[in-house]
Amino acid sequence: MTEGIARQKTVPTKRLLALGLTVTLSFSAICGWVLWHAGDRDYLHSRAAATNLVSSLASEIDRNIELYDLSLQAAVDGMKLPDINSISRELKQVVLFDRAATAKDMGAILMIDPLGRVVMDSRSLVPVEANYAGYDFFQVHATRSDAGLFISRPWVASDGQYLIGLSRRITNDDGSFGGVVAGSMRVSYFHSLFRKLNFGAKDSMTLLSGDGTLLMRAPFDIDMIGQSLRKSTVFKQFPRMQSGWYETASILDGEKRLFVFQQIGQHPMLIINGVSLDTIYADWWREAWLIGSIMLALCAVTMALTVFLVNALKRRTAAENKLALLANTDALTGLCNRRKFDEVLSREWRRSQRTATPVSLLMIDADSFKAYNDAHGHQAGDAALTSIAQCIAGGTRRASDLGVRYGGEEFAVLLPGETAQGALRIAEEIRASVVSLRIQQHGRPDICPTISVGVASMIPQVGLTPSDLIKSADLALYEAKRSGRNRTVAAPTMARAHRVAA
Ligand code: GH3
Ligand code: MG
Ligand code: MG
Repeated sequence: MTEGIARQKTVPTKRLLALGLTVTLSFSAICGWVLWHAGDRDYLHSRAAATNLVSSLASEIDRNIELYDLSLQAAVDGMKLPDINSISRELKQVVLFDRAATAKDMGAILMIDPLGRVVMDSRSLVPVEANYAGYDFFQVHATRSDAGLFISRPWVASDGQYLIGLSRRITNDDGSFGGVVAGSMRVSYFHSLFRKLNFGAKDSMTLLSGDGTLLMRAPFDIDMIGQSLRKSTVFKQFPRMQSGWYETASILDGEKRLFVFQQIGQHPMLIINGVSLDTIYADWWREAWLIGSIMLALCAVTMALTVFLVNALKRRTAAENKLALLANTDALTGLCNRRKFDEVLSREWRRSQRTATPVSLLMIDADSFKAYNDAHGHQAGDAALTSIAQCIAGGTRRASDLGVRYGGEEFAVLLPGETAQGALRIAEEIRASVVSLRIQQHGRPDICPTISVGVASMIPQVGLTPSDLIKSADLALYEAKRSGRNRTVAAPTMARAHRVAA
């Protein structure tokens, strides 16, 4: 018996697992993509906020410097008025410093002669004696005529305050150096400006002069004022660019930040807001952990469900296969049963009809089996039937051959594609193997049930049915019994009836 009892169903385990994995990976990829973009959005949002902040601070500082510069320019312009040196000191004070700005953090405006001596003071008719010849805001104008508004390095005044000087050149009619108009601005002005801002603990705000001198920084550290940050990354862009951004570790505290800078007006000053990357991504990390954990749990559940489903399907399919096997198998002999025979015969008949190939059938019956039962008992009869079944199974070799227990002590062998001669040969082989079988029962080895075989072969044609084939094989079997048993008889429709004596 070599015909498959039932086509075994298999569970597409790999495909199901691959599907589960694909779904899991797809969800993870979508989730990762969304998170990635959320991180990008947070970054861009922080950059935009920092840009707005430095922009408004730069405007605020620029406005104040402009106001103060207007006062300086008014004083410079006043010095060019005809007869300015011939009017009274009080009047000159009014003319020169009439428009002088008087903001809290702005110092007095001083008129300094070409030797660096203070000759006039906007806040006093009698200026304090002082000489600024050695200061950079004086030196620059003494040596250059095109310095415009000069913003000095910070210095410590006598009252301990850090000041920066703002100065403009007085140029005589002949182009020679006529002195300097200078004012001062308290660095604490920037401190109080920065203090009003609300930014993260790891963020920073830095005000630099054009040459890299630190004027003010938040978080505040007085020792940093005046320090040179010439090597800071910002000078890779500034002054070529008036505003921009970059990302680096701070050279002051090593914190990794996104730095956004902007020049203050047209002045050699720039303000830099450093937003810590930790601050930027703080919310994002929280979300990423939460969503990532949920996603991981969902993936694990999906995979667990997939594995559970695969296992359940495997168990169910195995049970179905077993049931199908039982439904098609003869319990005593292990051969296929009549039900399977009918199903396969009808299928093979149609196939042979299509391909115009022969289909052959052996009908086998145990000889005088009633007597055998009577002599040896029913159990010995069962064992004999099993032995005959083994001979039948041994005689069918091709995958499409099907040996079945037809009923009682009758068997059938379907041989699709087999010719009459081939079928006859197989029948003889089976019969011979039964003959040679010595079924030893109860110490009587001489008793051996033989079989008679009827062989029929047909090429299915119009008008013929599978039952014609069975009938034909049955007739041949009847003939085999009638003519003495233990023999093979081919149906008369075959080219030549073949009889083999035992
Ligand atoms: P013949 O050579 O003409 O076929 O004679 P026979 O005795 O084999 O035929 P008969 O139809 O008279 O008897 C068949 C016997 O087979 C009767 C029955 O007890 C026996 N038989 C049928 N099925 C089984 C079975 O499953 N086990 C056993 N032990 N005997 C069975
Ligand atoms: Mg019978
Ligand atoms: Mg019989």
